[in-house]
Amino acid sequence: MDIYYYHRYDQFLKEFKSEKIIPGEISYLFLTHHHDDHAGFAKRFLINSQARLIVHNNAIPFLKMGIHDNRGKYWNKWIQQMLDPLSKIINHKYPGLKARKEDIILEGNVLKNSLDLRLDGKIIFTPGHSSDSISIVFNDGNAIVGDVAMNLFNLGETKYRPFFIQDINELYRSWRKLRFGARIIFPAHGKPFAVDKLSKKLSVIKKEELIFKQEIFF
Ligand SMILES: [Zn+2]
Repeated sequence: MDIYYYHRYDQFLKEFKSEKIIPGEISYLFLTHHHDDHAGFAKRFLINSQARLIVHNNAIPFLKMGIHDNRGKYWNKWIQQMLDPLSKIINHKYPGLKARKEDIILEGNVLKNSLDLRLDGKIIFTPGHSSDSISIVFNDGNAIVGDVAMNLFNLGETKYRPFFIQDINELYRSWRKLRFGARIIFPAHGKPFAVDKLSKKLSVIKKEELIFKQEIFF
């Protein structure tokens, strides 16, 4: 599952060691999307683990360069003011990596090269936060969604929405998709929550979309 910033690799190895997990025993690295707090040390990890990468095709050019796809907006001015200075310091760059022939690439909604992928659930394309966002919905209803949803105290009136959004309509479509099969949403940022929360939010979308448009196009 997603990893972390490039400079956290040594800490990651320590934590693995304390859990008696050997990176070489990991078969797959699933990246929900290409952002640096999810893919930062992917290159090092893949070299040292020999795991196969699972990623969406739209991530490939950004992973290759080790940069963010910056097309999109912060949810509102408040979030922008909070995160822009941080963004400038971090700059979101990380060592780039190329997909290899053994890696598993999702193209649109279709997984290529995945015949031997034994997964107790399904991988679905959930764009909106980024154009490459993918999620896993396990058969027990637990869903790993990366940044397709967040749960950070309604910070800046976001409430379950990611701080950064590339396409708000795509995002809501992805939420609708998650409702089929998902029971508990596990976001990358914040605590797990029931999928019903997304349903409730979707029921008031029209009003909020108007607010979003007013706030975002300043
Ligand atoms: Zn992200």
